[in-house]
Amino acid sequence: MSERLPIAPRAGSAARTKIEADPRVDLKSMPRERLGLWFKEELGEPRYRADQVFSWLHQKRVRSFSDMTNLSKALRGRLDEVARIGGLTLEEVKVAKDGTRKLLLATAAGDLIETVIIPMEDRLTQCISSQVGCKIGCDFCLTARMPLRRHLAASEIVDQVLWAQEVIGEGKSINNLVYMGMGEPLDNYSNVLASLKTLTDEQGLHMGTKRITVSTSGVVPKIAKLGADIKVNLAVSLNATTDAQRTALIPINKVWNIETLMAALRAFPLPPRRRITVEYVMLAGFNDSLEDAVRLTRLLRGLRCKVNLIPFNPWPGSVYKRPAADHVDRFAVVLRDADYTVTVRYSKGEDIGAACGQLDGAPQAA
Ligand code: SF4
Repeated sequence: MSERLPIAPRAGSAARTKIEADPRVDLKSMPRERLGLWFKEELGEPRYRADQVFSWLHQKRVRSFSDMTNLSKALRGRLDEVARIGGLTLEEVKVAKDGTRKLLLATAAGDLIETVIIPMEDRLTQCISSQVGCKIGCDFCLTARMPLRRHLAASEIVDQVLWAQEVIGEGKSINNLVYMGMGEPLDNYSNVLASLKTLTDEQGLHMGTKRITVSTSGVVPKIAKLGADIKVNLAVSLNATTDAQRTALIPINKVWNIETLMAALRAFPLPPRRRITVEYVMLAGFNDSLEDAVRLTRLLRGLRCKVNLIPFNPWPGSVYKRPAADHVDRFAVVLRDADYTVTVRYSKGEDIGAACGQLDGAPQAA
């Protein structure tokens, strides 16, 4: 049985629509550098004022200018006139048998998105969303059944982590962050980059870049850009060893095929001692033969990488099945024999629809 935690009632939809139409600038979407410029140019205020506001938003997690008590009343009033604090409303927290927590969050327009907090030994990993829906259309993914409704603002991406901090309570923190929830992060590049700058800022949550992984289905032109802009980890959802297989699973393979993708991965500027994570969702009878395993060893040759094998998590209506555990092990052995580091990742939180590829922004039945 999963457990549902009580959450304060959500605001009415009329109120949310009003916030969405709010023309005031969203300060929570701005990395500190940009916030400093905005304070100088728009308000004629010194940079340290912007730093104070940044710290209120991202360290103290306040959601109203009136709570920023080290700012003058006049400045707080002025901020209220010209700016707003973007973000999300927490709607529901579901707790799975294995301790995985899924947070259902609403945007100001009432769209629902999900983020998942996964306990792993003594650490907490959070999987965050970057879009409402997704346009990539991966055949094995439940999120793909939702059309892309919109990109999340940087404030809405960052707020998933701030809410997670709230839910796990003081004294604990999110240790690892993966951009692997709803949406293709590199399809919402500028907002994802702004969120990364904010989350890693020393005057914010100060998360280490080594602890953050951005995952892509293979948006090749943005892979090099990400590597040049910020030194976070990269994961790629490969999932196939031939173009025919991959195009059937991930339609953008028609635009950027396996060869083009592998070239982009080889050119990615990896810092020393870091590796690219290659994700491989295993679909019984489709991409899990031992010939696939051998082809995979050849494709990855020379790439500094580790492989995550993810036995498929079925969802109602999915045409794919999960391979048997002993077959997954045989596949892994082929890779290990070729000297690759391999992890078999059985997803957590399946009983609350929080496993990989199961996020759809829908509240769960009790
Ligand atoms: S796996 Fe990721 S990129 Fe593919 S459809 Fe699902 S959310 Fe989009």
